[in-house]
Amino acid sequence: SSLALPKPALPSASVLAAPMLPPAPAAEPRAASAPKAVRLIMMGPPGSGKTTYGKRLSAEFGAPHISVGELLRAYAKDKPEVAARMQTGELVDSELVLRLVRERLTQPDVQERGYILDGFPRRLNEALAMEEWMAGVGVDAVVHLEVSHEELMRRISARGRADDTPETFRNRMKVYRDQTVPVLERFKNSYGVLEPEVSAPTPRPTTPGCAPSWKTP
Ligand code: AMP
Repeated sequence: SSLALPKPALPSASVLAAPMLPPAPAAEPRAASAPKAVRLIMMGPPGSGKTTYGKRLSAEFGAPHISVGELLRAYAKDKPEVAARMQTGELVDSELVLRLVRERLTQPDVQERGYILDGFPRRLNEALAMEEWMAGVGVDAVVHLEVSHEELMRRISARGRADDTPETFRNRMKVYRDQTVPVLERFKNSYGVLEPEVSAPTPRPTTPGCAPSWKTP
């Protein structure tokens, strides 16, 4: 007798109607839309708009804005000697700043979304610490805000913060020139430096998203 081969069953209509490939597994929303961490360092003289632009960039990229001046003002509330130091326009103790910033940078929101760092580093030893902390992850850019002296004076006198007196402002400018500009020079070699056009009396909404006004020197 012959070997009876089973007749292949005709595929049912519903099988033919089915797509060739199994449906793709449901997309993992976290993986698909997880924002990239953005790490930016805002630099510029007092009154140049580090906080104003830092907040805008934070809204644009979803990375937390970290004002080191704010951290210090909060810390100095019950530390009169630190408050007095800030009132002179001089930089406060390195160890304190490094500890506060380090603590903030290890928090989960920063780990996940990055940061817009405003007011740090301001001197070379802080820059070296920053480079060491960021050795594995890098920094996307340094945002350098350059504004004329005249416009800085105008903005500072309009702001009226406790350390915005003419005398303190002069000293903060000197501290910026002597201690912070060398950091900027150093960062031109270690990180990309962006110089948006921000010298107009009314700051324009200038972000990397509005590319035309950004130039890298
Ligand atoms: P800011 O609000 O950024 O203008 O900072 C206000 C003051 O806080 C400065 O004038 C300094 O006395 C102190 N300060 C802010 N950032 C730093 C820093 N990175 N290192 C040392 N002192 C700082």
